[in-house]
Amino acid sequence: MNILIIGSGVIGLSTAFELALAGHSVKVVTRNYEEGSSWVAGGMLAPYSEGLTGDLLRFSVESLRLYPEFLDRLQEISRLRIYFNRNGILRLFLSEEEYEEAKKLAAKNYKDTEFEELYGEELRKREPLLSGEPIAGLLFKEEGDVDAEKLMDALLFACENLRVKIQVDEVVSLEKRNGRIEIAKGLKENYVADFYVLTTGAWSKPLLDLPVYPVKGQILKVKGSELDKVYYSNISYIIPKENFILIGATSEDAGFDSRPTVGGVRSLLEGAVRIIPSLSEAELLSVKVGFRPGTPDDMPIFDTGENYVVSVGHYRNGILWAPISAKMVLDLVEKGDRSPYFDTFNAGRFSE
Ligand SMILES: Cc1cc2nc3c(=O)[nH]c(=O)nc-3n(C[C@H](O)[C@H](O)[C@H](O)COP(=O)(O)OP(=O)(O)OC[C@H]3O[C@@H](n4cnc5c(N)ncnc54)[C@H](O)[C@@H]3O)c2cc1C
Repeated sequence: MNILIIGSGVIGLSTAFELALAGHSVKVVTRNYEEGSSWVAGGMLAPYSEGLTGDLLRFSVESLRLYPEFLDRLQEISRLRIYFNRNGILRLFLSEEEYEEAKKLAAKNYKDTEFEELYGEELRKREPLLSGEPIAGLLFKEEGDVDAEKLMDALLFACENLRVKIQVDEVVSLEKRNGRIEIAKGLKENYVADFYVLTTGAWSKPLLDLPVYPVKGQILKVKGSELDKVYYSNISYIIPKENFILIGATSEDAGFDSRPTVGGVRSLLEGAVRIIPSLSEAELLSVKVGFRPGTPDDMPIFDTGENYVVSVGHYRNGILWAPISAKMVLDLVEKGDRSPYFDTFNAGRFSE
């Protein structure tokens, strides 16, 4: 089948990769493959640390559990190694109240995963780099993180090796008839395919008329390799990679303003040093800005037509949700299997 994917973030490229691997002829059209928020992401795979529940928890855990095989396939085809840390995420709490609430939530919702409660002296003994501020932590052992830049590099390499064509153009409108897309009209040319997948991230509103808006995030890269796991708290995320550490992330309603700001950088540095004081000695390497594709209820948006799928609004968990989002499209195209998540997270919920 000839398949056209619009957008080249982690959602578009993961979908392109899986479809091309299954033997389809895939073309990706993207306005700018470097502007995607996927290049900026912290890469945390954190359904439990994020405190998710209900459908979103099930969706997230399914995707988390697809990760090892997804990365194996991707590393084999791309011939690149992708940093994948599976030492867990330590969710830290700065007050008794916050800790008690999280323990209650975990006891009720997180019965099928292993986590450890670390309190007071026990926490300090196990984690000597921590300041005195966190009073307790929950170590979610199944969680971890990937290097999102490496993941994106590998997706681009794998797509190239599978002969996916990537073309730079902006799709400005979709000509539809009887629930089918007939033409995707670009600024440079028009595109016709058997099947279309729309993965336009935070820029989805003008093309798809869906309630997706940018949530600006600033994130810092500092030098260092002394940490072995992610430290996640309400004041900062400290995310070690192979030879650097990410400190994230602001969450701002600032449209598509791509400027890093003094206030943003200051709040990130302050938050990080309050958790791990020795980070004040780390060399600051860079500040990056990205736009999470936010939605009114913080859930992704899927939609299907006769010959298309919409897969947008992955907000703050698009790296985590990439394997399952790609699999949903693959199963639909290959076997006609329609995942129940197409209904759970259907775009129609906003028109009701
Ligand atoms: C600071 C920060 C930290 C984050 N940390 C995490 C994390 O730790 N874990 C996690 O899971 N997620 C995280 N996220 C969220 C994650 O980055 C996003 O959910 C994910 O990258 C969204 O991927 P996407 O493919 O939908 O969109 P994007 O990566 O933004 O890609 C969209 C692409 O579509 C293209 N496009 C748009 N409109 C058009 C058009 N009309 N025609 C052609 N092309 C078009 C764009 O040029 C772009 O290349 C973070 C995000 C930020 C900003």
